[in-house]
Amino acid sequence: MMKNEKAVVVFSGGQDSTTCLFWAKEHFKEVEAVTFNYNQRHSLEIECATNIARELGVKHHILDMSLLNQLAPSALTRTDIAVSEGENGDLPSTFVPGRNLIFLSFAGILAHQIGAKHIITGVCETDFSGYPDCRDAFVKALNVTLNLSMDKPFVIHTPLMWLDKAQTWGLADELGALDFVRQKTLTCYNGVIADGCGECPACKLRNQGLEKYLTTREKVDK
Ligand SMILES: [Zn+2]
Repeated sequence: MMKNEKAVVVFSGGQDSTTCLFWAKEHFKEVEAVTFNYNQRHSLEIECATNIARELGVKHHILDMSLLNQLAPSALTRTDIAVSEGENGDLPSTFVPGRNLIFLSFAGILAHQIGAKHIITGVCETDFSGYPDCRDAFVKALNVTLNLSMDKPFVIHTPLMWLDKAQTWGLADELGALDFVRQKTLTCYNGVIADGCGECPACKLRNQGLEKYLTTREKVDK
């Protein structure tokens, strides 16, 4: 169902958005990627995203969003705050309030400028870790808002919305990108590419999903 249209992928160089980039390349004729630079804990994230985009032959936009750092003291933007998991329903310390609201809005403005109708984001409600602007209702509401704000028929796609981490690995595999995603993406909060440090919450989630997916695949193969 390749569409003869242009898409922009919100792209961080992590597992989810890289899978989305492969998904977009499968579905749209022309794909560009946008990465937001908000002085991430690891500038390696930007480097990683740049390398992946180059390797896949995708035009890459990097937008300076350092203003977010001013607004949100958080573990992702300040090295003096440790990464912790949210307890008792609290938000994890990595939370930057409204981050996806800002990112998707800017992605919409960029889409307008480059003549892209489709916006792809790897947000997901299944592994919902307390980020309200990752939820489906939010994305749908923002889609309407973007269309009204610029009088354009944008379509926001969320291919991972209802997948768990194992299923996201499955999607990468379906797209022929399992090894690529496994070896070249950065999810780890400690800045370790590929399988990561194995200790941080992001690594645990990623590795558990991979293990679960590979185990399931083995069973099917037999
Ligand atoms: Zn890690």
